[in-house]
Amino acid sequence: MTRREVIKLFGTSSLALTLPKPLTLFAQHNNNMDKKEFEVIIIGGSYAGLSTAMTLGRSLRETLVIDAGKPCNRQTPHSHNFLTQDGNTPKEISEIAKSQVSKYHNIKFYDGLVVNGKRSNKGFEITTSKGDVFIAKKLVLATGIKDIMPDIKGFSECWGISVVHCPYCHGYEIRNKKTAIIANGERASHLTSLVNNLTNDITILTSGTKDFEENELKIFKEKNIQVIEKEILSIEHQNGQIEKIVFKDGNSKRFDCAYGQVPFEQNSMVANDLDCEIDENGYIIVDWMQKTSTDGVFACGDNSTFMRSVANAVNSGNTAGAIINGELSKTNFYG
Ligand code: FAD
Ligand code: MG
Repeated sequence: MTRREVIKLFGTSSLALTLPKPLTLFAQHNNNMDKKEFEVIIIGGSYAGLSTAMTLGRSLRETLVIDAGKPCNRQTPHSHNFLTQDGNTPKEISEIAKSQVSKYHNIKFYDGLVVNGKRSNKGFEITTSKGDVFIAKKLVLATGIKDIMPDIKGFSECWGISVVHCPYCHGYEIRNKKTAIIANGERASHLTSLVNNLTNDITILTSGTKDFEENELKIFKEKNIQVIEKEILSIEHQNGQIEKIVFKDGNSKRFDCAYGQVPFEQNSMVANDLDCEIDENGYIIVDWMQKTSTDGVFACGDNSTFMRSVANAVNSGNTAGAIINGELSKTNFYG
């Protein structure tokens, strides 16, 4: 018997009230909502955005969270290095977060994609792909980043499973394994020194002419770290689990796992729409309060830092929430 059927039978008795509720019943989701004006709009409802929403919910701020539901870690089977949730799936972590944030009645959720942001006389005007328009005094960009997959067959299927970006997130689980580092230059040197503490079996795949200092090459040799310059054609795998890396010359090498450094782009153009400054690496520039260069616009999580982790997204989102509430409180109180 479904929850709905039990409620029909018994009414909203205490029995029905103790039944487990699906998440959507907690959340105040409404894509046809009459309410169009909020104090704060948060674009992006993953770890950074939900963290901001929790602080604003607890501060009784009328807040709308608009989320397209595509966090960057969605393919990884387990998330690590976030206290209290170590080893849980990315989805489990965000579902717990969302169910807790949903308890605050002043937080509303809209499932969808923001396509445009502009200034208005009331603050900011945000438009979704369905043409809904919302207005708020403050805006939070918690939109994350999008990894750009290289043109290597099999790479994207292995991403987050056996080809990983970060030793802190996944290094412990793949310790002592036969490991490839798919990177070149400074990034490869940095990763190699970190990964060297986790396994003795490292091969650097530069996929083109190597770019290292003489002393780095000497140390790689001393530590038995081979550097292969051959271009990579494909990764052979079983359900995302690497078996071997195939080179364009037809040779291949067996690996258990790999670290890959890939370029990224911002998920959302709203920062550009609102003239927020972007740094030379592609991150939205913020100060310690998560303020962007545009007054009233905040950014948190992956879109504004190279310290990419769930813990950092939650931390920076929490800071943004407190600073925004502080500003709104001051204006309301002192005018
Ligand atoms: P995201 O989680 O990427 O979420 C951004 C959200 O904003 C998405 O839901 C997206 O759909 C939405 N959005 C974007 N643009 C718009 C728009 N225009 N309109 C509406 N919504 C929009 N970290 C760890 O701590 N431990 C790990 O084990 C770990 N593993 C990882 C594995 C992989 C493969 C990757 C790529 C990352 C991993 N990370 C891990 C890093 C971690 O996932 C990120 O640091 C974290 O997800 C950042 O949170 P965020 O809220 O900034 O962005
Ligand atoms: Mg973000």
